[in-house]
Amino acid sequence: MRIVVTGGAGFIGSHFVRSLLAGAYPPLAGAEVVVLDRFTYAGCRANLAQVADDPALTVVTGDVCDAALVSEVLSGADLVVHCAAESHVDRSIADGGEFVRTNVLGTQTLLEAAARVGVGRFLQVSTDEVYGSVEHGSWHEDQPLHPNSPYAASKASADLLALAFHRTHGLAVCVTRCSNNYGPYQFPEKALPLFVTNLLDGRKVPLYGDGGNVRDWLHVDDHCRGLALVAEAGRAGAVYHIGGGTELANRELVARLLELLGRDGTMVERVPDRKGHDRRYSLAFDRISEELGYAPRTGFESGLAETVKWYAEHRDWWLPLRQRLAREASPA
Ligand code: NAD
Repeated sequence: MRIVVTGGAGFIGSHFVRSLLAGAYPPLAGAEVVVLDRFTYAGCRANLAQVADDPALTVVTGDVCDAALVSEVLSGADLVVHCAAESHVDRSIADGGEFVRTNVLGTQTLLEAAARVGVGRFLQVSTDEVYGSVEHGSWHEDQPLHPNSPYAASKASADLLALAFHRTHGLAVCVTRCSNNYGPYQFPEKALPLFVTNLLDGRKVPLYGDGGNVRDWLHVDDHCRGLALVAEAGRAGAVYHIGGGTELANRELVARLLELLGRDGTMVERVPDRKGHDRRYSLAFDRISEELGYAPRTGFESGLAETVKWYAEHRDWWLPLRQRLAREASPA
């Protein structure tokens, strides 16, 4: 079996690749794995260091918008797990161009090639953000899309393209939409690793608005197990939610981090709210539970404590990334 993981040097893609090569997904065991990654600021070779010498892994540096390269890489692939994306909402608010290019054009380029070369199955890895904000209850998979940020709009567009390729070309597409992931190797511009690494460095945590925005938290390991389940037995043309079942307001998340790191409320700095900030996301994930036997396994308390410990012990991983971000924010 040949599996192509786009964005396999990012946070979620690299977790999927490390787990797959470690044998965590028995139906996919023994596969030849190809990572296709452009190594943007968010792609890190260090994320794949543990498996770099595995003969089953090939890493191709390249762009998902490069049609010739994509055709070559996808030839003979049984499964594509499409994680490559511009993924940071704040960057999409500052400038959405790269989001449309990678997330929409890149996905279309992959889908065209997948349909042409006859890829067995295509997983479009997406997000709860495509639905916009929900005040009460939880979204089901048939909820109309109402994305509010350029990032979410680009992901919604890519999801629709993927489903259209199923309908039009018969490509075996599954779309997965998940909650906010957390875990090791998450780029330190994202909220949770930003908060943790700030606190580890003795800096304040920037909290948007009143801190009341609610997110559902999902350990990256549970997300990737959900992806493997959908890869193995998901219905072609179906959308599956992968949720974590732990909803928290951002200020509650920060309170837990302060407690874990022995800090107090003086380490929190209120900052003006993000433009168009969705108030709450919430996914119903009974479809994947009932059809594929998915349930999150990592309890939030232990998962969060282990994640904080991982960042505390892996300063060598995140410090250079933070320094690069700082240089980017104020070039000399
Ligand atoms: P990430 O930003 O950590 O990684 C993205 C990866 O894609 C990087 O390795 C980057 O180099 C690569 N990439 C970017 N542009 C590319 C291009 N044009 N060609 C090839 N590679 C390119 O993102 P992540 O957090 O791992 O997210 C992975 C996927 O999961 C994304 O599609 C994202 O929308 C989705 N998602 C993430 C979350 C989350 O909480 N992190 C939640 C829901 C959905």
